[in-house]
Amino acid sequence: MTEICKSCHDPLSLTLDPEESDGEGETVPDDLLLPCGCHYHWQCLVDESSSITATLTCPFCNSYLPSNHPSTAAGASSSSSSSAPQPALTTPTILTHYTNEGGVQPDLDIYPTLAEESFLSTHPEARPARAFHTLVSEGDVQGMVELLSDMDSPDSSDLEATPLSAAQLLTWRDPLNGGRSALHVALKARQEEAVWLLLWLGSGANREVFPDAVVQVAQAMGLPRRGEGSGPVVPVEEDVWFVRDDRGRTAGDVCLELGPPWTRLVEGGLFS
Ligand SMILES: [Zn+2]
Ligand SMILES: [Zn+2]
Repeated sequence: MTEICKSCHDPLSLTLDPEESDGEGETVPDDLLLPCGCHYHWQCLVDESSSITATLTCPFCNSYLPSNHPSTAAGASSSSSSSAPQPALTTPTILTHYTNEGGVQPDLDIYPTLAEESFLSTHPEARPARAFHTLVSEGDVQGMVELLSDMDSPDSSDLEATPLSAAQLLTWRDPLNGGRSALHVALKARQEEAVWLLLWLGSGANREVFPDAVVQVAQAMGLPRRGEGSGPVVPVEEDVWFVRDDRGRTAGDVCLELGPPWTRLVEGGLFS
């Protein structure tokens, strides 16, 4: 049998970019099977993220998709229609069977991907901010600096639509990741260089606490600190050190959770 994508009606395969697949454009499977029996290309389903996360139904056949029952805990009425979806109390699980060039994933929960895409389609400013958090978690200090300078350069074509400035990016809290800021992410990933860079750029922490090597790198990269040399550097409400995540934790709380050597940041007189 030859299934086609319910969205675009093309066969469930994908032709790779010749540059990525030595020479000839190679054709690979791209077949996402939903619990209702409908097949989609990965991207074709992701393009429907907003409607699926709102209704939890298949865009083609309207079947209810979650394998758990996120709304029954609210004492769901007997109405079986999908016209009035109830707010989900627990996160839905939508188990799919996905076949692509990497093989078969028989029980892939697609809901987290759809929820993220749905959020990003209505919050475009979060895309560069989430990219920044990814660089932070990888400890890619060079990439962090480049992205920050892009944010503040007015003719950056990619990011023109974003209302976030570099300063706002430093304190941005990710609603898809527990309200964590870049500094929370850096600490969790134990990326020491990224931690120091964020403190250098976005905190009024005493200059004396920075290791000499950090200061030299920052100066070599031409990274000035706000207000350096005169008066208060960064107001407390814009200081990355004091941003709280959804659980109310500041960076200092995270350091105490991590234990030594991170606790020395709390004990080391950052702000004394
Ligand atoms: Zn398609
Ligand atoms: Zn369906």
